[in-house]
Amino acid sequence: YSGKKTSASLYESVSKLKVEDFYSSPVKVSENMTVYEAICHMFAEDVGTLFVVDDDNFLTGVLSRKDLLRTSIGSQDLNKIPVHIIMTRMPNISHCKKKDSLMTAAKKLIEREVDSLPVVIERKKGIEVIGRLTKTNITRAFISLIETETNEEAVTE
Ligand code: ADP
Repeated sequence: YSGKKTSASLYESVSKLKVEDFYSSPVKVSENMTVYEAICHMFAEDVGTLFVVDDDNFLTGVLSRKDLLRTSIGSQDLNKIPVHIIMTRMPNISHCKKKDSLMTAAKKLIEREVDSLPVVIERKKGIEVIGRLTKTNITRAFISLIETETNEEAVTE
């Protein structure tokens, strides 16, 4: 056994990787949270992206580190600005679903030049966020691919 994969079988292993096996928990905030509170929350929760939801818990926006930094550079009072003023809004939010292949989601991250995608379920009345897919999740999947490969070799030898 050479341990060398054909490109067809590499493609097969990659397409087996699904969003549902790698995503993280989402951190959600309400539209009326202040920018100051959002900054504290982002630190406390140790995430790079916050998802903004309405009173029905449906997705309305995304807040990144730079969104918060940009606002902080200005001279405004961060305790007075609600996050809905500065967030990136629906429908301009790129998202993915649990059953999507990780490759599809990875392409969206690269094309949109963002750090994360909300993992969503489309309901009749709005978009429910059930997860967060980040570049770290993709990196973890990359490692798992290499580890699976190494294990297969060990078994075959
Ligand atoms: P940062 O700005 O901290 O580097 P991102 O690259 O993720 O983080 O975000 C860049 C911009 O894109 C921000 O304005 C953010 O609100 C927005 N953004 C982040 N994630 C998404 C997404 N999934 N879909 C659309 N816009 C997004």
